[in-house]
Amino acid sequence: MSETATVTVKWGRTDSGFPMASTGTLTGASTALVVSWLEERKGASTVDLLFDRLQSNDGPSLSRGQVSKRGKVRYSVHTSVLEEVAELTDASDETLREIGHDAAHNVETVIPGAGLMLRLASPKRLLKRANTLWTTYADFGNVEVINVEKGSARLRIYGFDTHPHFCRTLEGLFEGLLERTGAKSANVRETTHDDMDDGCTFHGTWS
Ligand SMILES: [Zn+2]
Repeated sequence: MSETATVTVKWGRTDSGFPMASTGTLTGASTALVVSWLEERKGASTVDLLFDRLQSNDGPSLSRGQVSKRGKVRYSVHTSVLEEVAELTDASDETLREIGHDAAHNVETVIPGAGLMLRLASPKRLLKRANTLWTTYADFGNVEVINVEKGSARLRIYGFDTHPHFCRTLEGLFEGLLERTGAKSANVRETTHDDMDDGCTFHGTWS
């Protein structure tokens, strides 16, 4: 377990009085796990490099002490982390999906309460709970299940500032969640990636 998991989050930037419709927060574990993932594969020095870059870039900065499994992290910060990690590791789409898979395997921390639900669930039941699970994971955006058939489903996520890297991690997260319900050969791919209003649609298959 890396030290990043134990420090308390203190994300100082509030947008009090200026609600930012396009952003919100995610469970801190989603970012903490990206950092752990990076450390396991690339070592502590790469994690140091990540935080150096996050402190010096033009976007939102993030110190190591601000990453916590228990706290919340701003979506814009999370996507900055994904961008830096992708650059540092020369990440392919598959690598970003792997980050999402990792979150699914640690779902108890990423989506509190989801572990037990998944053990009892089928893919169909998981999809029925998609909205509840999403609101536990993120305080922005909406999920709409478009259709569910035997071994396949389509869903749409909209109402936030979409980011391609985040969508790759969602593909992995959704695949991993399906697997945790007992689904075999789960495959989830984004079929359309659009802006805030239209959002993104994902097609999943399993057996
Ligand atoms: Zn997308």
